[in-house]
Amino acid sequence: MSDERETLELDVVFVGAGPASLAGACHLARLAKQNGLELAIAVLEKGREITSHAISGAVVDPRTFQELFPQDWESAPFEARIEGEKVLWMTGKKALSMPIPPPMNNHGNYVASLGKLLKWMAPKVEAEGVDIFFEFPAARALVENGRVVGVRTGDKGISRSGEKKANYEPGVDIRAQVVVLGEGVRGTLTKQLAEPFGLWQGKNPQIYAIGLKEVWDLPPGRVKAGEVIHTMNWPLGFDNFGGGFIYGMQNDQLIVGLVAGLDYKNPYFDPHKEFQRLKTHPEIAKMLEGGKMAFYGAKAIPEGGWWSMPRPYGDGFLIVGDSAGMLNSQRLKGIHLGMKSGMLAAETIVEALKAGGATAERLAAYQAKIDASWVKEELWPVRNFHQSFDHGLLGGFLQGGLGMVTGGRGWGVKDRLETEPGNERMIPLDTPAGQRLQPAPAVPADGKLTFDRLADVYNSGTAHDEDQPVHLLVHDTSICVDRCVKEFANPCQRFCPAAVYEMVADPATPSGRRLQINASNCVHCKTCDIMDPYGIITWVPPEGGDGPNYGKM
Ligand code: SF4
Repeated sequence: MSDERETLELDVVFVGAGPASLAGACHLARLAKQNGLELAIAVLEKGREITSHAISGAVVDPRTFQELFPQDWESAPFEARIEGEKVLWMTGKKALSMPIPPPMNNHGNYVASLGKLLKWMAPKVEAEGVDIFFEFPAARALVENGRVVGVRTGDKGISRSGEKKANYEPGVDIRAQVVVLGEGVRGTLTKQLAEPFGLWQGKNPQIYAIGLKEVWDLPPGRVKAGEVIHTMNWPLGFDNFGGGFIYGMQNDQLIVGLVAGLDYKNPYFDPHKEFQRLKTHPEIAKMLEGGKMAFYGAKAIPEGGWWSMPRPYGDGFLIVGDSAGMLNSQRLKGIHLGMKSGMLAAETIVEALKAGGATAERLAAYQAKIDASWVKEELWPVRNFHQSFDHGLLGGFLQGGLGMVTGGRGWGVKDRLETEPGNERMIPLDTPAGQRLQPAPAVPADGKLTFDRLADVYNSGTAHDEDQPVHLLVHDTSICVDRCVKEFANPCQRFCPAAVYEMVADPATPSGRRLQINASNCVHCKTCDIMDPYGIITWVPPEGGDGPNYGKM
C-alpha cells in the first residue's frame, strides 16, 4: 500500500476511449509528425478493455471512416451495408409500413457494433504512437488559476466505508498541455467544468434520451444482415419522444431496442417496461420467436442538438463526441460527428501548440472549425428538431416537417427554439394534473421474450467490486422519503434500467422506508444523473475496470 500520488507529464490527454477520442488521437499523432512536433499523447479509458463500455445502436454513416482511414476503411468490421429498410407505424396489434422520411433514409450506411469498430481502430491509434491506458477512470479535472492543467484518476482499494484496503493505490495526476474530454454522454469532468467555465451560458440545456438494447441470437437464416426497421408511436404514444429500432447483424444476430426521451412528464413512465412491451408486439414477437437474448445494455443519448451543445473549449481543454452533444437526433446518428469533432480538435491543438500554447483564445479556433465543417452543415438544418417534440408527437411532426422546408426554422421561430431541462418537466403527483396520471399496465417477465431488470443486467456482463464506496452520490436521501415519494413516487426505481435504486422498508427510520442503492448493478448509462427531478444524484466513476462488459454491443 502506497500513499504517494504519482504524477505523469504528457502533452495531450484524451479522456475516454470512444470513437471521438480515438479518431482525435490518431489524427493528432499523424499531424504532429507532419508538423515536426514531438507530442506525448495518451487516451484514458475507465473500462477493462476497449470494448467494455462501448455501446451504440448502431447505424453508422461511414464518412469519417473514409476521411480518417482512406486506404482501408472498407476493412473496418461493419456488420453489413444497409440494403433494406422500413419505418413502421405501430398500434398495439398492427404495424403499418410508412413512406421513409428522407432523413431516415439509410442508403449507404452500415449496421455496426461499436465495440467491434473500436477494436479495429485501437491498434491503428497505438501504431501512431498513442498510449491507451485501461482501468484509468478520470475522476476530476485539475484546474489551476482558471486553467485546466490535467486530470486526476480515481483511487483504487478504498472500502465501502471509506477506509484504505491492502491494495490501496491513490489515483494518478496526469498533467498535460491540453485535456480533450471525450468521456461520453453527461461526462463527469465536463459536468465539473460546466459552471466555472460557463460552458452552457446562453445555450439551451442538453436534452437526453435513454437507449435500451438487446442483442438476440436467432435461428439460422431468419435474420437479414443489413435490414433496418424503425418504429413509431406504440408503445410510447403521442406524449413521449422516441421509438423502436431493429437491426439485422451477421451470424443470425438481431438488435432490438428502444429510444425514449428523458423529458417525459408522467413520473410513472418506465423506459425498461416500455422496451419490454415493444417486444410483445405481434410483429416483433414473431421476429424473436425461437431466439435467445444474448446481450443487454443501456445508455443515455445527447439529443438536444445544435443549441444544446456546450462551448467546446476553454483554457487548456476541448470537448468532443457525445460529451459535446455531437449527435444528429433526426438521423439518430452521432459516431461520424463524434469522430469528426475529434479530428477538428486535433487540428486545433496542433495549431495552438505551434503558436505557443493551448490558451482559450487559440482553442476557440475549434468552434470556428466546427462552424466551417460539414458538422454544422449537417446539424444546423435540424437545430430545432428535438425541441419540436416538446408538445408531443404531432406537434413534432408538424414543426419538423416545416423545419425541412424552412432550413430548420419551423413555424414562428427565428433561429432557435428554446427548451427546458428534461428532468424539470415531470408533473408532481400531488397536483390536480398529477392525480390523473397512472402507471402503464405491467409487462410480466416470462424469461423468454420479456425480462426483468436483473435478468437484463446479467446479460450486460456488469461487475463491480462490492467493497468500494457507492458511486451514485445521492446528496440528500431525506428528500426520497419526505418529498419524492409523494411528489413523484420515487421515479429512480423506474428510470434506472438496472434496478440500482430501491425503496425498502426500514423500521429503524422515522418514515419506515429508506433508499437502497444496489450500485453493483449499474450499467453506467448516466440516466439517474440526468433525470432525477431534484437533480440530487451525481454519478461518479467507480474503480477502474468495473462496470458493464459490452463486448459486441
Ligand atoms: Fe444508469 Fe444511474 Fe442506474 Fe447506473 S444507477 S444504471 S447510471 S440510471
